[in-house]
Amino acid sequence: EKRAFGRLRRLPAQLQSGEDIELSANLELPAELPMLLRNGAKGIGLLRSEFLFGERDELPDEDGQMEAYRSIVQAMDGRPVTIRVLDWGGEKGRACMRRLGLEEQVADGDNPALGLRGVRLLLRVPEVLETQFSAILRAAEPEKDVAIGPVRILLPMVTSVDEIVEAREIYDRVVRRLRRRGHTLPDPLPPLGIMVETPAAALTVDTLSKQADFMALGTNDLTMYTLAVDRADSMVADRYSPLHPGVLRLIEMTTDAALKARRPISVCGEMASDPRVVALLIGLGLRSFSMNSASLPRVKRLIRTLTLEDCDQLCRQVMLQNEPDAIRDLVRQFAT
Ligand code: PEP
Ligand code: MG
Repeated sequence: EKRAFGRLRRLPAQLQSGEDIELSANLELPAELPMLLRNGAKGIGLLRSEFLFGERDELPDEDGQMEAYRSIVQAMDGRPVTIRVLDWGGEKGRACMRRLGLEEQVADGDNPALGLRGVRLLLRVPEVLETQFSAILRAAEPEKDVAIGPVRILLPMVTSVDEIVEAREIYDRVVRRLRRRGHTLPDPLPPLGIMVETPAAALTVDTLSKQADFMALGTNDLTMYTLAVDRADSMVADRYSPLHPGVLRLIEMTTDAALKARRPISVCGEMASDPRVVALLIGLGLRSFSMNSASLPRVKRLIRTLTLEDCDQLCRQVMLQNEPDAIRDLVRQFAT
């Protein structure tokens, strides 16, 4: 199997019927880079920047962040890198709030997943977001007039348009400041996109897309928030299903709205690491996926055996079902 995967790396991720499918990888730690490259990722579809903010008591400074991003962008050698700004909060609760000097703001909530998280948290400490934008923009600076990157920036846990507007104001301010200081920024600037991982975002992509340059479906959180199921809670974990018709309908709506608005859309939740589920998502109109790099060869191998009609047919059958179990069976029986 290993040798077969070795050959697969150089082959395109293409359906039998000719359509190209983009397969990128998620990156949580720089140490995962060699495997990501070995498995033939087209780029980094989701760079989770939380690792930089690790366990130390002080936050990483701009130069330190810049160097970390730049070395990853350089290692990717011209392949696109999508960097998500800090997605803290939620279950990390108290410790991260203390380090951001926001301890009093975790005061009363019993539901950290519904509290100060992702972009909400960053807008409460705009200097943290500013520093991160600045570090990312500098990491994407051309070297002796030769472009590096391309780099894209992703906002986590968006629920409404004002969050994007506010983040974009900060982004524009950082751009102006860097230019004043003589930096040559990439042209065009790194696009600013959003994670679609709350039902509110999925239901309003038509509006959000006016402010967001691209969308990334975060199906892990989208599943949790749609079903009101905490995956880490053993009493309800069996109800956590990204194949629930409610979740699939939101994915379908998001995809249709993004395509209509001509915004690039990808999937970067765990469901994209199951090859047969990727077939279903292709049937829903998606063409770009980011997954943990270990899953990439298997996804590519299945894709190369399918036609678009195979995927459409699976999708049509699935979308007629009302039971998560029935959908799971259909997906399991597919392409076996
Ligand atoms: C998601 O929620 O699906 C996602 C990709 O983000 P994370 O898993 O980092 O929350
Ligand atoms: Mg998420």
